[in-house]
Amino acid sequence: MSDTTPSTPGRDFIRDMVARDRAAGKYGGRVVTRFPPEPNGYLHIGHAKSICLNFGLALENGGACHLRLDDTNPETEEQEYVEAIQEGVRWLGFDWGESFFYASDYFERLYDFAVELIRMGKAYVCSLSEDEIREYRGTVTEPGRNSPYRDRTVEENLDLFARMRAGEFPDGAHVLRGKIDMASPNMKMRDPLFYRIKRATHYHRGDAWCIYPFYDFAHPLSDAIEGITHSLCTLEFENNRDIYDWLVDTLVELLPFPDPPRQTEFARLNLTYTLMSKRKLLELVERKLVAGWDDPRLPTLAGLRRRGFTPEAIRDFCERIGVAKANSTVDVTLLEHCLREDLNPQVPRVMCVLRPLKLVIENYPEGQVEELDAPFYPHDVPKEGSRKVPFSRVLYIERDDFAEQPPKGFHRLSPGREVRLRYAYFVRCESVVKDPASGEIVELRCTYDPATRGGSAPDGRKVPGTLHWVSADHSLPVEVRLYDRLFKVERPDLEEGGFEACLNPESLEVLTGSRIEPAAVDLGVGERLQFERQGYFFRDPVDSRPGHLVFNRIVPLRDSWALEVQKQTPAAPKPPEPKALKVKEEKAPEPLSTEELEQLERIRPELLPVVESVLAAHSNEVERYRGGQTGVLGFLMAQVMKQAGQSGGRPNPKLVNAMLTRELGAP
Ligand code: ATP
Ligand code: MG
Repeated sequence: MSDTTPSTPGRDFIRDMVARDRAAGKYGGRVVTRFPPEPNGYLHIGHAKSICLNFGLALENGGACHLRLDDTNPETEEQEYVEAIQEGVRWLGFDWGESFFYASDYFERLYDFAVELIRMGKAYVCSLSEDEIREYRGTVTEPGRNSPYRDRTVEENLDLFARMRAGEFPDGAHVLRGKIDMASPNMKMRDPLFYRIKRATHYHRGDAWCIYPFYDFAHPLSDAIEGITHSLCTLEFENNRDIYDWLVDTLVELLPFPDPPRQTEFARLNLTYTLMSKRKLLELVERKLVAGWDDPRLPTLAGLRRRGFTPEAIRDFCERIGVAKANSTVDVTLLEHCLREDLNPQVPRVMCVLRPLKLVIENYPEGQVEELDAPFYPHDVPKEGSRKVPFSRVLYIERDDFAEQPPKGFHRLSPGREVRLRYAYFVRCESVVKDPASGEIVELRCTYDPATRGGSAPDGRKVPGTLHWVSADHSLPVEVRLYDRLFKVERPDLEEGGFEACLNPESLEVLTGSRIEPAAVDLGVGERLQFERQGYFFRDPVDSRPGHLVFNRIVPLRDSWALEVQKQTPAAPKPPEPKALKVKEEKAPEPLSTEELEQLERIRPELLPVVESVLAAHSNEVERYRGGQTGVLGFLMAQVMKQAGQSGGRPNPKLVNAMLTRELGAP
């Protein structure tokens, strides 16, 4: 999905319910949803799921979706968060129109509802302490006991409640409670708390109030005030639904709309290798374990945006994970997959050398510069455009692309060996220059073959690999921030020693000496680029400026975590490795060469359906692989090769392997 119109939604139990309600003429056919964040932190990708669901439903049904701040806790809420929430929803591509509300603007009406409940004998002022209230509530196996204040008269309750509001009592002296059932099997229904006394300045209402309603009271009644029809929330509110129904049904005569709203719960999104609770995200920010709410390693919308994620990719992700009733944890590789799918067909390719090594072409005339043609897109991306890349005697290549003693299977440059420089010539390494003091290689002395201009030799000789490069004099310095997962473990929230112990120390590597080809900056080609053979990058919207370029890595071209595990897996089946070991190590897997990557893109349309059908037909093996038994990869490979063979092809196994592991995601 690369345009801004939300695509056809999938079916799920909530959409089915809404369709049934409409067919039955419920709510007069109206569909009104709301997204109700509390302004006590920034939105994260879990919220994106809820936003896509609520706004999506409204769009699909010609209805409306309100953006409402559920702001009943003065101590934790701030205006800064309100603005970040609006920005996040807008960035995701949704529009609340005129329907932007604050629950705190309903305080007068909520107060009137509470008074009405008192009049009806359905609410009372309770003067037990917090501890006593807890003790009286009973347990899951034992019923609670009635508060000694439960039988206060209506007059006494009205008087006390009015004086609570007037500020006559200290904080915590009294609460207002629903008079429901202290023996209810649902503990939430044991006389729930509706109001508390709290002297704190509210970011929106200032000091107008010293009593504040609780979520359980404010939420259903705010829904009812706004004429919400379908109130969707996450599963942890399942038991609160009884209070919701009790309130809107008890007060139904006083509500502005005849049919009260109904609450439906769905599973919250959890994502591997990250945290999704605002409280914990706040802790990361406050303790400066990250750079701020928009740190590109955070799953906040602000962080994802600054990292370079597109709203389209996030919406696509939310659609693919769907909406279900059972909690689960989604593999972060699915999010990365959606991102690559979105970026691949639209992002120009350029060359950037992250860790430069100087390469001098001895037989190239000093002072000569050639402008070589290079397309911005590979063959299978139906987009036009190319740029000129300056080539000269002194170049930079990637330090990793040279090995003085090449290990087996190393297809790049080493002494005496010839490789192709992308869009340019073949070069051969004749000698290396080392720093006499440290022994570090500081320069490669090479020769080039002028007959190989454009990248092929008239005599048909082959080279093992193709490298990206930039011209030393023409390239621009750039700071590159390589972001990786913030945590080393799949579920940092479940770690016994707390999440801090499993922060990934390599989650950010800042490279200050990188060099980028001039076209990447001059041509206004866009803020997102693919650095060939490296990944997708985004010009940092805050720190990058002319003269000091900064690019963030959005995502590498492939999932190096999955590849690493696969490399570590011996051929013979072995017990699965403990999860904690599956962390990227320094030694990088042999990456696909540029040709291979291009080849992969070319065969993708044919190969992908084969891979998908194999994965669908062998879901047990897929489960086992994802559960850590990476040995089954060989079996799946064989199935793909066999099926591809039946239709007459024999794809390169290395490419099949790459596509398969990409589709499987990290085990
Ligand atoms: P957190 O637990 O991260 O602090 P929250 O539920 O307190 O989140 P709210 O501001 O109350 O945050 O959330 C607004 C809406 O977003 C609620 O309807 C909530 O159910 C939904 N939501 C929050 N987190 C998720 C999630 N991980 N997946 C899906 N929906 C979510
Ligand atoms: Mg909440």
